[in-house]
Amino acid sequence: MRADDTLAAKRPVTDLSGVGPALARALQRLGVGCVQDLWFHLPLRYEDRTRITPMAELVIGERAQIEGVIEAAECGFRYRPQLKVALGDDSTGTLLLRFFHFRKAQADQLQPGVRLRCYGEVRMGARGPEMVHPQYQRVGVDKAVEDHLTPIYPTTEGLGQKRLRGVIDNALAWLPDERELELIPDAMREGLGLGSLREALLTVHRPPADADLSALANGRHAAQQRLAFEELLTQHLSLKRLRAQIRNFRAPALDGDDGLRARFLSALPFTLTAAQQRVNAEVAKDLARPQPMLRLVQGDVGSGKTVVAAVAALAAVEQGWQVALMAPTELLAEQHLGNLRGWLEPLGIEVVWLAGRVQGKARKQALSAVAGGASLVVGTHALMQEGVVFERLGLVIIDEQHRFGVHQRLALRDKGRDGALVPHQMVLTATPIPRTLAMSAYADLDVSSIDELPPGRAPVQTVVIAGSRRGEVIERMRVACGEGRQAYWVCTLIEESEQLLAQAAEVVHAELDSALAGLSVALVHGRMKGREKQAVMDAFRAGEVAVLVATTVIEVGVDVPNASLMVIENAERLGLSQLHQLRGRVGRGSVASSCVLLYHAPVSAMARERLQVMRETSDGFRIAEKDLELRGPGEVLGTRQTGRMEFRVADLARDAYLLPAVQRVGEAMLEKHPLEAERLVDRWIGAAARYADA
Ligand code: ADP
Ligand code: MG
Repeated sequence: MRADDTLAAKRPVTDLSGVGPALARALQRLGVGCVQDLWFHLPLRYEDRTRITPMAELVIGERAQIEGVIEAAECGFRYRPQLKVALGDDSTGTLLLRFFHFRKAQADQLQPGVRLRCYGEVRMGARGPEMVHPQYQRVGVDKAVEDHLTPIYPTTEGLGQKRLRGVIDNALAWLPDERELELIPDAMREGLGLGSLREALLTVHRPPADADLSALANGRHAAQQRLAFEELLTQHLSLKRLRAQIRNFRAPALDGDDGLRARFLSALPFTLTAAQQRVNAEVAKDLARPQPMLRLVQGDVGSGKTVVAAVAALAAVEQGWQVALMAPTELLAEQHLGNLRGWLEPLGIEVVWLAGRVQGKARKQALSAVAGGASLVVGTHALMQEGVVFERLGLVIIDEQHRFGVHQRLALRDKGRDGALVPHQMVLTATPIPRTLAMSAYADLDVSSIDELPPGRAPVQTVVIAGSRRGEVIERMRVACGEGRQAYWVCTLIEESEQLLAQAAEVVHAELDSALAGLSVALVHGRMKGREKQAVMDAFRAGEVAVLVATTVIEVGVDVPNASLMVIENAERLGLSQLHQLRGRVGRGSVASSCVLLYHAPVSAMARERLQVMRETSDGFRIAEKDLELRGPGEVLGTRQTGRMEFRVADLARDAYLLPAVQRVGEAMLEKHPLEAERLVDRWIGAAARYADA
């Protein structure tokens, strides 16, 4: 038992006065089991009931507390039951209260002469200001107002705010003194301007009447920032712990003689960039160790991640281990298959294909090859299905990680698990992750960056053109293709229903096919069968198709170096990283490429800014930073679905400036104060989220 277990913090909520089994069950639904959980059950927002606004000064659209005497009350039943109560105060203002749901007893209570205090949003009614279903109470003259702002907590059915506030009040009374509560050593807090935790908790739960309400609403109040720091620190520590646990597993040491790798590299028609070589070395070093590698390789589109993946795969094959490479779409997986077969089959290495559409006999064959120890298996989610059994899986490579959740990553890893022995993992992503985020969101992964493009890539020139000039753009495409260039025409829709999108693409295909008579125009969209898609892509790659009308299925990874012109329709609807991914499909060869962003008015301010950014830069890191700024981290990382970054007070975009300090303090705590680090995680994340076996 730890020292603090006997203290207030860990006592069950039922030890608090007034908390019986029913209330305890409701609290449990909120993830609250002990007193400490209540301390960290933080308000969502605040209401100001510390003052009474004279009715004459009410502002439409704002929430306010008012007080007055009922001048008239009327129960109507014309269209639906309605209780209308006219309230007046000394400011000679009046206000109408409207209730559509009410009990008779309630109506009986609201008689002329009764004094009410109400809180609600003021809106403009037909005959002046009104409040619909305000919160109200009967009061005597001179009843005191609240002396602090009223917190509104996340709650659950059957547990009202008032009751919850009461319980939290009781719990706060048990807050120990500063020294005991504080887990971040003073020396580390010094210089960061972080106040005490005790003070911060008392302030966010019960902000004084003069607290800065707008700072509180934005989460920028000093007390909230103090908590945000601690929450980010906790997140960082827990990811570090997750990583430490992973390090407890063992993995095959892939420290082969380099023979295959050397043969592969010397057969390539190009030499690796310095960045590719550096990352290869980082990966090789990890793989050679008997602990599992967990490395994120990030590199802008076209930076050449596939070669790096192939080199890693060969390290495993050299030692007789199998490799699985998983990609998020069939198109992309198939392209990897093509590349890897082209590179590796000449070396005598078997590459097996396993995707959802591999069925029947082919599937049986693939499965038995995998079970029999085939060196390399390339595929989609299908790799994770039951029935896929590896003989000795030594390395898992996942392309475009942000489209898969952590759980999927782990599921594939577990395919190769043999007791404490797990495969190495390598994750490739083309969405460059801003450094600050990488430190936090990916603290459980080591990160390598391929921060250099292969030489000779002419930058893509980007222009932004109004949709009304579509005709000119088509004309320009005709000229370019007449000179032997190839082009993409990308169709997008707001609602990405595959069906509608496919229809839209078909319409454009027909239009371009007739406008560009003499040129071969093909179509690829998500509703087509894998085989059809592949045939079209092959023809495009072979240069038999001049213009490829495509939906965003081509967003990820497609590599046709001769394609040098891209038109993106309704570009104003796409996010920055999607635009960047799309644009990355051109500019892969040595011809000068261009990208036309067609937009249709009206364009929002944010969309205009996105288009501007696209025109100004092709630096994936700058674009990612900007994306983060415009959209927030959940979307950038695609972590919404994985649920791994839900914070109570912290906000990665807003609080990113704290991250360097978080990292510093985190390292120091793990080294010098591991027990406190452990208690921090327990405090914020609690037993429920313990990663027993990540
Ligand atoms: P991405 O990082 O976007 O996945 P790819 O691995 O698809 O990039 O590589 C893009 C293109 O660049 C491919 O045609 C690949 O063969 C080529 N390539 C990769 N590395 C180099 C290099 N060092 N020099 C020249 N071309 C390269
Ligand atoms: Mg790629």
